[in-house]
Amino acid sequence: MAAITEPLRGLGVGSAAATGPVARMAARPAEPSATARPQGDPAHESARAAAALREVARELARRAAVARDELGRADAAEILEAQVLMAEDPSLLDGIGERTAAGLTAERAIFETFAQYRDLLAEAGGYLADRVSDLDDLAARAIAVASGVPMPGVPEPAEPFVLVALDLAPADTALLDLTRVLAVVTQEGGPTSHTAILARARGIPAVVGVAGALDLAEGTPVLVDGAAGTVTPHPSPDLIAAAQERAQARARTAQVTGPGRTADGVPISLLANIGGPGDVADAVAAGAEGVGLFRTEFLYLGSVTPPSLETQAQAYRAVLNGFPGCRVVARTLDAGADKPLPFLPLGAEPNPALGVRGLRAFRGEHQALLDTQLAALAKAAQDCAAELWVMAPMIADEHDAAWFVQRAREHGLQTVGAMIEVPSAALRAEPLLSAVDFVSLGTNDLTQYALAADRMLGSLGSLQDPWHPAVLRLIELTGRAGAACGKSVGVCGEAAADPRLAPVLAGLGVTSLSMAPSAIAEVRAALAAHTMEQCRELARAALQ
Ligand code: PEP
Ligand code: MG
Repeated sequence: MAAITEPLRGLGVGSAAATGPVARMAARPAEPSATARPQGDPAHESARAAAALREVARELARRAAVARDELGRADAAEILEAQVLMAEDPSLLDGIGERTAAGLTAERAIFETFAQYRDLLAEAGGYLADRVSDLDDLAARAIAVASGVPMPGVPEPAEPFVLVALDLAPADTALLDLTRVLAVVTQEGGPTSHTAILARARGIPAVVGVAGALDLAEGTPVLVDGAAGTVTPHPSPDLIAAAQERAQARARTAQVTGPGRTADGVPISLLANIGGPGDVADAVAAGAEGVGLFRTEFLYLGSVTPPSLETQAQAYRAVLNGFPGCRVVARTLDAGADKPLPFLPLGAEPNPALGVRGLRAFRGEHQALLDTQLAALAKAAQDCAAELWVMAPMIADEHDAAWFVQRAREHGLQTVGAMIEVPSAALRAEPLLSAVDFVSLGTNDLTQYALAADRMLGSLGSLQDPWHPAVLRLIELTGRAGAACGKSVGVCGEAAADPRLAPVLAGLGVTSLSMAPSAIAEVRAALAAHTMEQCRELARAALQ
């Protein structure tokens, strides 16, 4: 493979830049050959396979300890510990022993033994079928170790690094140690993929949808520039200095403080997007006036059993306690499509983004899970000084909204709203707003559905553009409906983090903006630089 020297281009996330050596997420090993000759006799092969499984169990146990003790991710630790138990299951070794005795290599014996269990689980269906991917992951790790190649998954080099991957699953990102990941580069993924959201939340530079990213060799020094959307191999000292200077200039423009408002004093609340109690400190430090989107599903991406009412109430209380006297908008579990929840089997669908996801996942046999969550939210709010608002994702129209409002009210929740992320909801904004107390525009999904462009696809990233007049028109319709009935219209998609778009959104009638805490300062400064009339003027121009 020829070394890459030209900058690679993709979709930049955030405005920071960083330099560091590439560490690639190792790919899964290929299927071991069924006809390869073993290195040694059956006992030797069987011992090699057993050693590989022991090594995998040790590594997963180590990661579980890090997840539990250093990252505070008990849910992720639970999943890893369950995998350790699987890897240590003595019946696996029996199966492997039988196969090495029949003349297979250690690698092939591991592969076939796991495949047998995999088929059994898949046939069992339901919860057990959902464990198939955990078994596949274990098998891939053990085969990699036996073959002497790196285990698949997020690498852990000694030095801080730039993580290069095809894409990151939410479960990968849950365990990412962001003190060591300097920047993220993915070949797939659009600007609103969860990789991008996570990177922006932590203020780390990222470029997603980078064609050719996986051709970057391990250890190559690269400059990742989130503002320019470039990944430059072997950057010159001048290039590094210029990127640092731009970052400092941006930091200087972000010295306005206080609540969000336009130059003539019209308030536009600046709120934080968070995924759990661990994000509260950053939001408070950034001066967030509350939380505009608490993605509750982020707490449970690794949970194999549904979180109990008490477990949930405890987590929600920890968030609410961080914002006394402020609004905290909790979104009910947004499961399905790009965010599968291990404890919620939704079945395979040809088009998951158009399928049973968000609120839809709880309007049938799984309604009890929604009721438990609403009860947990109500319980948490009882003894906290924050003002809890609750909203549901993937509301299609006023009927969906009314159904959700009734459920939430039955649990004693007072301020109940809907996300507007399906175009039909924006087109029906007036009747929808009559059914709820507030709405929040999820511009990531709204853009995906308005332009029929999968937000996870790097190749369609240019269509994932909230500046598109079609998307702005949907926002305007919602803003007008909100003004007509005097209800709050927020934006909580990634569009709210764009300082150039913020005045346009205010001009379209948006009354609050919720974003990664790292974006708040620049958005605050951008609003303060425009009067409301200028915002409206910008909105009119953008709609054209
Ligand atoms: C959105 O769709 O804009 C949104 C905020 O929700 P998520 O990104 O979690 O789907
Ligand atoms: Mg969404």
